[in-house]
Amino acid sequence: AAKAEGRNRYRLFDAVLHLRLQRRMHLQSDMISAMKNGDMTLHYQPLLNCVSGRLEGYEALLRWYHPEYGAVSPMEFIPIAEETDAILLLGDFVLREACRQLETWPRSQRVAVNISPMQFRLDDLPDRVAQILRAHALEPHRLELEITEATLIQNPEKAGETIHALRKIGVKIALDDFGTGYSSLNYLHRFPVDRIKIDRSFTNDLEQDNARAIVRAIIALGHNLNIDVTAEGVETPDQLSFLRDNCCDQVQGFLLGRPEPLYPASKIDVSRKEMETLTDASGLT
Ligand code: C2E
Ligand code: MG
Ligand code: MG
Ligand code: MG
Repeated sequence: AAKAEGRNRYRLFDAVLHLRLQRRMHLQSDMISAMKNGDMTLHYQPLLNCVSGRLEGYEALLRWYHPEYGAVSPMEFIPIAEETDAILLLGDFVLREACRQLETWPRSQRVAVNISPMQFRLDDLPDRVAQILRAHALEPHRLELEITEATLIQNPEKAGETIHALRKIGVKIALDDFGTGYSSLNYLHRFPVDRIKIDRSFTNDLEQDNARAIVRAIIALGHNLNIDVTAEGVETPDQLSFLRDNCCDQVQGFLLGRPEPLYPASKIDVSRKEMETLTDASGLT
């Protein structure tokens, strides 16, 4: 009986593994056509000035609605895309699409685009970016490229050159998911960036003293280095009021707006008054 049970368990394991591999293969092979047939779209999440509540722009976030699997997270398909050249096509698609949208927004707003490590290593990334900006007659500072520590770790020298080339064009660079890596601090003085985005795991823990101390320190560090600081994953009025009290520059999170297909620009601006109401709701201030 024990033997049979072991065999069944093995079969179950086998079946699960098989399904997983199959899904992976399907996702890999369907990716390019999904981009062409409209199953891949960009959603936009508002980035708000932490004090005034003014809309400063949006982060573009890739969405894939697969006919068989439904919504597939970028956390799942971006790594799969990175195994092949698909990431380059995907990356180009996102940049073009985001810039096409940006063209329709007020000039005071910018778009933030996530760049995967492989995409950042492309020799002609700065040229591609410059060309897309030119094609849409966009001011370069309105485009912000978000990179993570993974991008910097793999080939620091090359990454440094690319950052310089991009900043020379006038494009902004943000360090995404800041604080989650191994040596975030090491990078700040080696690579000139325009913004750090405090990872949402810290924002999420703000009711704990440790997280509060860390977030305060990151904001101070950023400001001492003349770097803007964004807090990701703001979900509660308490978190927002803490960030405001500690002079965080920009906030992003479900409390202020979820990623959505597109916004009528006028609806988003959260007035200073509303921002105060949001923070007052915490009862802390
Ligand atoms: P990220 O760049 O750190 O993006 C922020 C993620 O946090 C998004 O998840 C967003 O939906 C989520 N988020 C925003 N506010 C909140 C909040 O208040 N609470 C919680 N719990 N989550 C919040 P998403 O869209 O699933 O993206 C996950 C990651 O996938 C991104 O992390 C980014 O690394 C990657 N990604 C997304 N789009 C692209 C893309 O176009 N290109 C590349 N290379 N990577 C992308
Ligand atoms: Mg990001
Ligand atoms: Mg992030
Ligand atoms: Mg994150």
